[in-house]
Amino acid sequence: MQILRKSNWEGFKKITKMKRKEIINKVKESGLKGRSGSNFLTGLKWELIGKGTRYLICNADEGEPGTFKDKFILENNPQLMIEGIAIASYAMDIHSAFIYLRGEYSYLKPKLEKIIKQSEIYLKKIKLNIEIVPGAGSYLCGEETAILESIEGNRPIVRRKPPYPSESGLNSNPTCINNVETLANIPLIFLGEWDNNLQLFSLSGDLKKPGIYEIELGTKLEHIISCGKPKKELKAVYFGGSGGCLPYEKFKNLRVDEKTISGKGAVLGARSLIAVGKDRNIVDISKTISEFFVHESCGYCTPCREGNFRVLELLDKIKDRKARIIDVKLLEKLAYHISDTSYCALGVSSTTHLKCALKYFKDEFRV
Ligand code: SF4
Repeated sequence: MQILRKSNWEGFKKITKMKRKEIINKVKESGLKGRSGSNFLTGLKWELIGKGTRYLICNADEGEPGTFKDKFILENNPQLMIEGIAIASYAMDIHSAFIYLRGEYSYLKPKLEKIIKQSEIYLKKIKLNIEIVPGAGSYLCGEETAILESIEGNRPIVRRKPPYPSESGLNSNPTCINNVETLANIPLIFLGEWDNNLQLFSLSGDLKKPGIYEIELGTKLEHIISCGKPKKELKAVYFGGSGGCLPYEKFKNLRVDEKTISGKGAVLGARSLIAVGKDRNIVDISKTISEFFVHESCGYCTPCREGNFRVLELLDKIKDRKARIIDVKLLEKLAYHISDTSYCALGVSSTTHLKCALKYFKDEFRV
């Protein structure tokens, strides 16, 4: 696997002989985009950072259901990510970096601290301090501005943008936020023989061999799923909890990339594929995902706080065969209303699964 390559600070040694602009240009030209699902050009993000005291935050708060690719890197090759933090910091003239570590991954903190200590010789060279900040387990803290609030010690509510963190982030200073997989790829760009198309996929669900697979973007859905060896005939594939679903048989020949998946109404996001067997009920799955969003909603805005609660009530009614036709119509209306009017990405994406389910599996929402 490309992501398991050992760099041993060779990438870092190369960049310290380069000018900052050259490093940023090389990252830009590489085509590397945010691997959290944001798909924003990483080099451009670095270029856009404002002037003055700046910060770098490594977003290690991976909370999307079915996603565990950053955990895989943190467990198996964290050195690469630390080296990526050092390269990014040097390129943007940053001297203070944070790793915002998902609460559930706090068992990895001692290991990361040890690597940071072992890397002192390189970090001192560029006067870089790296601090680990453990999160408290909120899904919302995967959003970059909620991370800023959390590190500042506040309740993590998503900030209104603009201003973007690149202008006014941590303590109102310009801040660059990159995710674990994005940063781990940085040293590889400078080592050469790096393929931007090889990306990590988290495969789970009704599979004999769930796990992390490094697969070329644009590979057929059937081939990706076959890596995990389906246990049974499949009905659907879900793209995490927030990316919606597609019927498997109908789309198994689809080449998986952001564009093709969004063209069918779902969102590829952080490349988490959950295989769902033919024996499973889509209403049950919709209910489980809606319960997750009701639990994770921060309560700040009405569409997400109240709307998802009503969605859950309606799904309960449908599941118990107590619903009327009007309830299914209301469910559909709510799904679009919540995504159209919620304040942040959590609310906006909280009903994608429902919109897809109603589009492709409407016959299961029986009254
Ligand atoms: S959409 Fe949900 S999570 Fe986002 S601000 Fe509104 S209530 Fe909070």
